[in-house]
Amino acid sequence: MDVEDFRRHGHELVDWMADYLGRVERLPVRAAVAPGEVADRLPEAPPEEPEPFAAIMADVERIILPGLTHWQHPSFFAYFPANSSPPSVLAEMLTATLAVQGMIWQTAPAATELETRMMAWLRQMLGLPEDFVGVIQDTASSATLCAVLTARERLCGWQGNARGLADAGRLTAYCSAEAHSSVDKAVCIAGIGQDNLRKIPVDGSFAMDPAALEAAIDADRAAGFRPAVVVATLGTTGTSGFDPLGPIGEICRRAGAWLHVDAAWAGSALLLPEERWMIDGIADADSFVFNPHKWLLTNFDCSAYFVRDPAALTRTFAILPEYLKTAEGDRVVNYRDWGIPLGRRFRALKLWFVIRSYGVEGLRTMIRRHIAMTAQLAGRIAATEGFDVPIPPRLALLGFRCHPPGWDDPARLDALNETLLQRVNDSGAAYLSHTRVGGAYVIRVSVGQTATEWRHVEAAWRQIERTAAELCAA
Ligand code: PLP
Repeated sequence: MDVEDFRRHGHELVDWMADYLGRVERLPVRAAVAPGEVADRLPEAPPEEPEPFAAIMADVERIILPGLTHWQHPSFFAYFPANSSPPSVLAEMLTATLAVQGMIWQTAPAATELETRMMAWLRQMLGLPEDFVGVIQDTASSATLCAVLTARERLCGWQGNARGLADAGRLTAYCSAEAHSSVDKAVCIAGIGQDNLRKIPVDGSFAMDPAALEAAIDADRAAGFRPAVVVATLGTTGTSGFDPLGPIGEICRRAGAWLHVDAAWAGSALLLPEERWMIDGIADADSFVFNPHKWLLTNFDCSAYFVRDPAALTRTFAILPEYLKTAEGDRVVNYRDWGIPLGRRFRALKLWFVIRSYGVEGLRTMIRRHIAMTAQLAGRIAATEGFDVPIPPRLALLGFRCHPPGWDDPARLDALNETLLQRVNDSGAAYLSHTRVGGAYVIRVSVGQTATEWRHVEAAWRQIERTAAELCAA
């Protein structure tokens, strides 16, 4: 493909992309393929001869599209959103065209310096402490791993990387019972060990119980363990719980443990001054992560990781082989030392496009809209006989259960709700996911797609009501 072909196909592709955004609403939300069905349509061997672009695009329509769950569908209510937006998509095209590799300042000075500025913008937008500085990571999982590794190194007097962990003692980590599995993964990889991750119980609002955290830390210290890190969550994945940072921070300070805050989804809501209650007590946090790639109109992947002491981060991750030395030395930031991979995509560009295209106020409007629709849906469910709301609306997530009068056998209710979710998802009209609360199966509704309007939420609810009525009558 020469540059003129690229121009022509590029125009065609942008037309296709705009059409897709216009028609995605009419596609089934969840992929309707069986395992192996996509692979069966793909040739076993690669083509020896070049194929025309039109043939490739025809296969995108024929093979790829039916094999996708459409995350940008306005009736996508599962998991958490990974919303995107036209300016973000255009920036991704530009990123791909420039195809820079920002491993060190010299290989992409503008990528590095735009990233520094974008992280400063995000810090201001979220109302985070002024001494926080940030770096873009691929995912919150990576950011949390960085936090756990840095906490480990700090506790080990920066010797773990050099000598291994044989002399480190028995390290422990803490998070709530509702924390994301990325915390488990991080403690496994960091050599702390999943058996040494204490899952602290939560209260009725799914928030970590600080007294239980303190008791666990005290018991561990008395038994000779060394508490390294506490991960507090703002907006737990299943249940939208918010761990109280104030009391947790105090406990961490007394214990000398690192406090990492995982606000992967809920962090975007900090744009709203009225939601900043969730960071009361952030002053004691050592690190904080949130995902613009979830709820800030920015394409996956883009995770914003903030630390109070960047020197701790670079002390954990800096390695300088001869071939990466440059004349700028310490006068520049080299983000390769702020995380795990050497190579780095130019992710700051899409943030710049998004923030400039919408303005902070435009982003606030989007988030407020999602929160308002969630509250409206909660009202609708509460007014419907035969349903309850075990996860009350917090920000833009709620969890409900179909609970017809007289259906009190827990196993029968779980089966009813599981079938209800499957039927609704199979219909293609909406896509939701589930969690468990106190062992009971609960259907989650997470409102956050770019194009979602009340009519989509209402249509999904009607589909749920209809399906539930059919199941209960059967
Ligand atoms: N933390 C929380 C609270 C999450 O909800 C999620 C994903 O939904 C993650 C971490 C992991 O995010 P990522 O996919 O960016 O690693």
